[in-house]
Order: sequence, then structure tokens, then C-alpha cells
Amino acid sequence: MEIVNRRKRMMSIARKLRREENRTIGLVPTMGALHEGHLNLIHEARAMCDVVVVSIFVNPTQFGPGEDFGAYPRDLTADSALLAEYNVDYVFAPTMEEIYPQGSSTFVTVEGLSEQLEGASRPGHFRGVTTIVAILFNIVRPHFAFFGQKDAQQSVIVKQMVRDLAFNTEIVVLPVVREESGLAMSSRNEYLNDEQRQAATVLSRALSKARTAYEDGEYGAARLVELVRSIIEKEPLARIDYVSLNDAESLETLDKIEDRPALLSLAVFIGKTRLIDNVVLGKTKKQDAAGAKA
Ligand code: AMP
Repeated sequence: MEIVNRRKRMMSIARKLRREENRTIGLVPTMGALHEGHLNLIHEARAMCDVVVVSIFVNPTQFGPGEDFGAYPRDLTADSALLAEYNVDYVFAPTMEEIYPQGSSTFVTVEGLSEQLEGASRPGHFRGVTTIVAILFNIVRPHFAFFGQKDAQQSVIVKQMVRDLAFNTEIVVLPVVREESGLAMSSRNEYLNDEQRQAATVLSRALSKARTAYEDGEYGAARLVELVRSIIEKEPLARIDYVSLNDAESLETLDKIEDRPALLSLAVFIGKTRLIDNVVLGKTKKQDAAGAKA
């Protein structure tokens, strides 16, 4: 496994792999502090691609003022050791200057889809995400890139960007990976103390109750959202940012679930830590089961 810090080196490796060796490249973009959610993406990349590149970059442009850019957990040594175990070929861990050289002033924005849900709560967040993903795609030139359903809106937006800008990369989205308790794995879970970690299980419990209600025939958005809210509101350490039911592809707000998959998503503060989670309703039971247990 090689750790690459320079964009030029990464670009020349990618060029050689594609042109001379005709090998398929899989990219797993991350911000590090790796957990099983990331490892599942890497596992799938390993199965699908000849060469696996994992990028680790805490991207400042996707953090808003007052968010946790400074505090975000960083441990390249531990992450690299883990990645070596998973037979990753290249870790791309660039410095800030390698990604945003002095004077860099170009951003990629997917309009419409970026403005609701996470985008409404975190203005500018998705502009930062699509900009870094576009830069990484241009450097690594992956045939496949792997993203988690944990960040459902992000996956939808990246797919739209790939279509609109004609990137030659196929986006693979994999289900949310959860702890035994149901809590969705997240690097931000490291901020939680024991009591908060226990409280945070209310997110998946609430979504799970909503799934049961849906399976019992409740298709109304207002009632499903209210059910989730009422469960979370009973947890004293939790403060809801939003709970929303949207079309899983267009992200349009829904009044009720009809014949298309619907995304029931939420963002909740546990203390100062902002956590997100979601479940997709309206697919086959098997696909749903991959999306949430709890
Ligand atoms: P991050 O390092 O948080 O930017 O995440 C990197 C990638 O891992 C993103 O595509 C996330 O959606 C994905 N990811 C993070 N946590 C999970 C999880 N619990 N289950 C599935 N994918 C995840």
C-alpha cells in the first residue's frame, strides 16, 4: 500500500493504471476516522475493482462557520494501518494546498437538490462536497466511486453531478452500517459520551417505528414525521433539527408515499453533536432490511 500526498503523483499513478495496465480503479472518498461504515465501502470496492484508492481529506469547504472542522477527528496513522489490513492499494491523503492550491476559486454546485434538508441546515455544505468530489474524480479518474446511504442526499447529488458534468465514473451506493444498538456508524459518534451514545439510539429507534407503521399501512407523510418527532422528543438529550419525508430520487417533499421509494430522513442534535440518519420506505422488504435494522 502506498500513501500518496501529492496530486501529481496520484494523477500519474491513475493514468498508468488506466492506460497501460487497463485496470479498473475504485475510489472511496472519506474524511478519515475510519469505521465499519467506511470499511464496508472498501470491501465492496475491493470486490468490484482491480485497484482500490481510499482518499482521506477533511474538506474545509463543506464545513460551515461554527461547525466542527477544527475538532473533526484525525488519525492518519491508525487509518493507514486499518487500510493496509483491508488490502487497499493507495491511500490518497493530500495536504490542503494539493487540493486547493493558492488562488483556487472554482466551485461545483448542483442546484436545487443542494438547497433542501441538509443543504437548508448547512448552507454551502453541498457546494463543498461536490467541489471536492469533482477534484478527487479528476485526480483519481475512478471507474467506480463508493458512497454510503448514510448520507443519502449526498449520494443523490453526486449522481446528479456525474450526469450533468459527464464524469466517466459509476456511483455505487451502499446501505447504512449500524452498531448493535442501531446507531448509524459515524466519525462524529466519537464526540458522544456514554450517556449521549445511549440517547443517540433514539434516532434509529424512531425510524424503525416509522418503518413498522409504514408496513402496517401508514403512508401519510405528516403522520410518519409526527411519529418520529414524538419518539425523539421524549429523549431529553435530543434536539430535532429536521425530520422529513421526500422522494428518494428527486428529493421532492412528499405528502404521502405512493409507488416510488421515499426517504424518511432526520438530523438531530445530541448535546452539541449533530447526527443524521434515514430509512428508505417503499422498496421491497429485502432492500429495506439492508437499510436499517434496530
Ligand atoms: P465521511 O468520512 O463521513 O465523509 O464518509 C465517507 C463515506 O462513508 C460517505 O460516502 C459516507 O456516506 C459513508 N459512510 C459514513 N458512515 C456510514 C455508515 N454508517 N454506513 C454507510 N456508509 C457510511
